[in-house]
Amino acid sequence: MTAPLAGLRHLAGSLLDLLLPPRCPVCEDLLTDPGQIICSACRFGFEAIDAPLCQRCALPLNQEKAHCAHCSIHPTGLDALRCGFAYGGSLQEAIMALKFGRRRELARPLAQLSLEAASGLPDEVEFLLPVPLHKTRFTQRGFDQAALIALELGRINGLPVLLGGLQRIRATDPQGQSRDQRARFSNVAGAFVAGKPRLIKDKAICLVDDVVTTGATMASCAGVLREAGASRITGFAVGRTLPDL
Ligand SMILES: [Zn+2]
Ligand SMILES: [Zn+2]
Repeated sequence: MTAPLAGLRHLAGSLLDLLLPPRCPVCEDLLTDPGQIICSACRFGFEAIDAPLCQRCALPLNQEKAHCAHCSIHPTGLDALRCGFAYGGSLQEAIMALKFGRRRELARPLAQLSLEAASGLPDEVEFLLPVPLHKTRFTQRGFDQAALIALELGRINGLPVLLGGLQRIRATDPQGQSRDQRARFSNVAGAFVAGKPRLIKDKAICLVDDVVTTGATMASCAGVLREAGASRITGFAVGRTLPDL
């Protein structure tokens, strides 16, 4: 872009900010810092998940060990899972604003903040693979939030993102309606197929989603990737639903 044109665009941006000052997409309050996307109050509402954590399901443990009792008996198919924050409060509002309010600009700060909170992606990742939406839901929404988050994580970590590496061939019931573990596992059984099996074989892949609830969706995806010959399958999500105590 030529210098006068860049200057004009900057001026137009500043004028627009004067007329329509930027607001936090989560709570709609005015943003005081021009570099912010999420306001400080919403950001400080994101709750960390207290360590120590189970390396496979990212749930808190009551003592320092590698895996929780459940994952030791019933492995989820993931070699490791990392999540940024406990799902709830302003994090839940931010994810809802991204998905249903179509505030795509939230993908960047959510990816960045959750990566910092989780101390990075799991080890040994060759590429990222977003958990896909069914095409009907993709058409309704116009974008795939997990893909937007994966692209941001890929940008920050210098990793490629394999879009279309998995396909959701069956429209599952929205997972938000059931927190029952068994119902969720049967809901997603057989819902995914490998879209690009040649690119999956012998690779270390990190699945990316916005929220992990029971882990049923990622477990189903991991099963398909394992079948297609992936050598290591890990997961990363912005939010993790913690079970009621
Ligand atoms: Zn806010
Ligand atoms: Zn576990």
